[in-house]
Amino acid sequence: MTAITFYGGIGGIGGNKILLEDKGTRVWLDFGESFGALDNYFVGFLQPRDSAGARDYFEFGMLPKIQGLYSREALKFTDLKYGEPEFDAVFVSHSHSDHIAHMRFLDESIPVHVSRIGKAIIDCWEKSSTADYGRHDYRTFEPGKRIKVGPLEFRPFEIDHSIPGACGYIIHTSSGTLVYTGDFRKHGPRRASTLKFFEKAAEEKPDVMICEGTRIAPSDETIYVGDEDDVRRVAKNLVSGTRNFVAATFYPRDVDRITTFSRVSSDSGRQLLVPTDTALLLTSLESNGMKVPKLGKDYRVYARRKRKGTFEARDYYTWERRFIRDAVNFEHVRKDQSKYMVYLSFHNFNELVDIKPVAGHFIHSRSEPMSEEEPEAAVMSNWLEHFKLQFHQIHASGHCSGKEIEEILQRVRPAKLFPIHSKHPELFKKFSGLRQVILPEPRRKYEF
Ligand SMILES: [Zn+2]
Repeated sequence: MTAITFYGGIGGIGGNKILLEDKGTRVWLDFGESFGALDNYFVGFLQPRDSAGARDYFEFGMLPKIQGLYSREALKFTDLKYGEPEFDAVFVSHSHSDHIAHMRFLDESIPVHVSRIGKAIIDCWEKSSTADYGRHDYRTFEPGKRIKVGPLEFRPFEIDHSIPGACGYIIHTSSGTLVYTGDFRKHGPRRASTLKFFEKAAEEKPDVMICEGTRIAPSDETIYVGDEDDVRRVAKNLVSGTRNFVAATFYPRDVDRITTFSRVSSDSGRQLLVPTDTALLLTSLESNGMKVPKLGKDYRVYARRKRKGTFEARDYYTWERRFIRDAVNFEHVRKDQSKYMVYLSFHNFNELVDIKPVAGHFIHSRSEPMSEEEPEAAVMSNWLEHFKLQFHQIHASGHCSGKEIEEILQRVRPAKLFPIHSKHPELFKKFSGLRQVILPEPRRKYEF
């Protein structure tokens, strides 16, 4: 008997926690954090306590109370008793927190399978931020390799998403073939990988498919310029037409976007300046064999004022110091505002006080165009006005559109489809050519 149970990833976007069971072998597909659940009870400085392990998470149903899953540490202040692990593995689709953040509660001896690049990103994040994904028996793989766990055979495929190292899975079980998409798009630099994955998936004539639907909605209100190439084209038009200061913000792990903006910078005769954590990520991916922008050539490091504010090595963490030596700071940018493009996230806007832009542009290259009701958006807008910076939303999504997903599903034609990672899973039922669409209920076991 093979069964799947959804403990997360339903009723909203993200938080995938899907249990796959086959003849006593029990494996998780992702173990992420659901933002929806978190947002209901926590806001601003009111956050679950790290010191209480899983306690606050259990209270609000943000983690399932399951025996033999969590570490002693996580259960220390809860009413769930620690037991020897009863699970065989976790398979990670990609290193975004809605897919991996709750791994930190897991028993350390449960193996975590993740792509080599996905693991490199996790390592960088743990090194350069307060993020902690826990200690694990990590087993890294190269996409395409087959991995056996009991009667299950996993075949990860590289897939295009807004983070490198993302995978979709074709899984052979003792009752048939299962396809798990993770998150995907087909308009970034790895579009060919997405097409290949779904081609293979179609050949397998899958019995079950679990598919994301982030952008499936009655109307897609988010503003996208199109694909990654369009972002480059639109941004280049803007940046090459000005001699004024330019700053841009993107998702910190979106290496494709960072690459796009390093090209926009050089296309417009500027140099991209990035923070130390981005430099750590890029240099680490480079040493892992990925083709990414090169430090010193395609970008330089921008040193923020830290600790004593003297820009000396001791103001910085040990891992940052090697980047600080040749870094640029506000003085360079202030003197020559047409020479650089600064990667500046909202929480580092104080740099503008030092840079003193004469006038210029701020490119918001991530989702959520500003809505005036959000306090953060209002503050951002005040800063931009204060420094005479014009706001531009230039973004391409990390996910396929509803139409693209419909076309993909019509090709793969799974016998059963479980939509997840979506605010509107019911809209999958409107797609033509699908045999059976099942809207998964939380914690209900579906056998196949
Ligand atoms: Zn996701």
